[in-house]
Amino acid sequence: SKIEEKLFQDRYRVDSGRPHIRIKDPDHCTECLEKQCTVCCPAGCYTRETNGKVTLVTDGCLECGTCRIICQDSGNLEWEWPRGGFGILFKFG
Ligand code: SF4
Repeated sequence: SKIEEKLFQDRYRVDSGRPHIRIKDPDHCTECLEKQCTVCCPAGCYTRETNGKVTLVTDGCLECGTCRIICQDSGNLEWEWPRGGFGILFKFG
């Protein structure tokens, strides 16, 4: 709905063109059997596609670090905190 979109906008500032998490090698994700990121991310940033690929959209990321930990051994994620003023906004009202 429009209201939900507005709430989302107010709580999250997208750093356009500068996602703070990046998949280094998309082919690795295609080959990954578990694809835990697509299940564990509380913000649903990772999508398991029907062709076996994984898409990552960092908009709405809660910066919880779960994906960073579950994908740590593969070394396939480049994970940084968002720049100051971007990302999830913890101040409300
Ligand atoms: Fe999802 Fe947390 Fe990773 Fe952000 S840090 S993409 S919310 S699992």
